[in-house]
Amino acid sequence: MKTVLTIAGSDSSGGAGIQADLKTFSAHGVYGMSVIAAVTAQNTQGVLAVEDISPDMIGKQIDAIFTDIPVHAVKIGMVSDNASIKIIADKLKIYQPEYIVLDPVMVSKSGYDLLKPEAKQALIEELLPLATVITPNLKEAGVLIDQSITDLQEMEQAAEKIYNFGPKAVLIKGGHLEGEPVDVLYDGNSWKHFNGKRINKNNTHGTGCTLSSAIAGNLANGHTLEEAVLKAKTYIEGAIDHGLAIGKGVGPTNHLY
Ligand code: PLP
Repeated sequence: MKTVLTIAGSDSSGGAGIQADLKTFSAHGVYGMSVIAAVTAQNTQGVLAVEDISPDMIGKQIDAIFTDIPVHAVKIGMVSDNASIKIIADKLKIYQPEYIVLDPVMVSKSGYDLLKPEAKQALIEELLPLATVITPNLKEAGVLIDQSITDLQEMEQAAEKIYNFGPKAVLIKGGHLEGEPVDVLYDGNSWKHFNGKRINKNNTHGTGCTLSSAIAGNLANGHTLEEAVLKAKTYIEGAIDHGLAIGKGVGPTNHLY
């Protein structure tokens, strides 16, 4: 069985973060493992508190896995500060997993800063060059290049600029633009558009985490990047369509629909 490791934050409500990643891995038939980089106290209404795990402990979790178990793909999600980013980058440079899917988590839908603003530069310099693919939404892509992105042409330009930071490919998710959503994948040679369908459902907590984990699972299972993205998009559309109305706020997508 293929294995996938998530390095990310815990979401106590189980809809995003590590918990969403592990559920997504199971749904893709891969064996999931986790390095917890931060713990959030969170529910469907928002994030109440965040506590970082020490860089030393993050490093030890990574060592524990890579010195024992083959890792076919890594997904990186919420990593909140400079020191955590540095240790993760240092360890991944040593262990060199074949695929790294980087979801540059910055702010939760409920408006909580999950990446400390001063850590943006470390994310760009340390983690982006290691990524097989980085999966920012429009806002995250805009923050990475210090520009707002308002249409498809600007998405393509942004993808090229982010590509120049060093990842092998960039997937910018266009869901926050008006109309039918289009995602743009740039691999240094050409731009590929993925047309999606707008699903007007409320329970969308954890969509970004789930999509990036599905891409990692698909890569571990031997799919090309384009196939991995296409399959992951189909999966997340179903998960949103079957979202779970639990809690008083924005419920999670359904990983096992
Ligand atoms: N909590 C954690 C630990 C996350 O990694 C993420 C990922 O983006 C979120 C919360 C945000 O979830 P959402 O913005 O989909 O509600």
